Amino acid sequence: MDALIDKAARIILGSKLTIALTGAGISVESGIPDFRSKGGLWDRFDPEEYATIYAFKDNPEKVWRMLKEMEQIVDNARPNAAHTGLAELEQMGLLKSVLTQNVDNLHQEAGSRDVIEYHGNSRSLTCLWCNRKYDYKEKKDKYPPRCECGKILKPDVIFFGEAIPSLAMARSSQLASTCQALLIIGTSAVVSPFNILPRQAKQVGATIIEINLEKTVLTDGITDIFLQGKATERVSQVVSAVKALQGA
Ligand code: NAD
Ligand code: ZN
Repeated sequence: MDALIDKAARIILGSKLTIALTGAGISVESGIPDFRSKGGLWDRFDPEEYATIYAFKDNPEKVWRMLKEMEQIVDNARPNAAHTGLAELEQMGLLKSVLTQNVDNLHQEAGSRDVIEYHGNSRSLTCLWCNRKYDYKEKKDKYPPRCECGKILKPDVIFFGEAIPSLAMARSSQLASTCQALLIIGTSAVVSPFNILPRQAKQVGATIIEINLEKTVLTDGITDIFLQGKATERVSQVVSAVKALQGA
């Protein structure tokens, strides 16, 4: 593993443009379950049933039961060493942007400045009927939160069946097709169209460094360096190795 960490650190130091793609796995050690964990939120709320825009439009009260629990979990979560490690790499001028599928705001709380939210953010709400927008704090104690017009509000997270925000999509695609190194952390890489980004990077010759507890659909065909293990441990090791090489 040490040799792989060293190799990853050298790639990052030699790359002119590095980006990170993150998924639910990077926030698991902050206490937010991913879709696959056993006994967690998603065992009780099947994402197929609760995380589609059709489900929300059909029965927003029902979907808000899941959203409320998710909100409480996110409210109690703090950034972990993987989030802060990426923020540190950005400050060192070695990481351009973080492209995340997460809606938990933890990259921003850790200090990352250039965060592209591919699936939106849970910290604001919109009315699907009249388009009014609200900060989530304004509606925090209201359940389900309602718009002035009386309709139930939707958080600005992208549900399955909704379009990706166009600016996030355009910037992600532009970065993936020009980067020289790509870190991909804690994502099963099965949700489309996010899963196209590592392939785009690979096509332009970028080195793909993957951190995950287990192999994913990318590991054998796309990934160049697979750092199996916990996101917190592996990101910290990579950042330490980068610093050691810089100091050498
Ligand atoms: P996923 O649940 O499909 O996959 C999570 C991946 O992370 C898995 O491959 C798993 O092996 C890995 N993983 C779990 N714990 C890890 C750890 N400690 N260290 C390293 N890897 C770890 O998640 P996804 O690919 O992000 O797709 C699910 C969708 O649901 C995304 O849109 C995601 O953003 C959303 N979601 C978001 C949150 C959040 O905002 N924190 C939480 C749950 C789901
Ligand atoms: Zn309204």
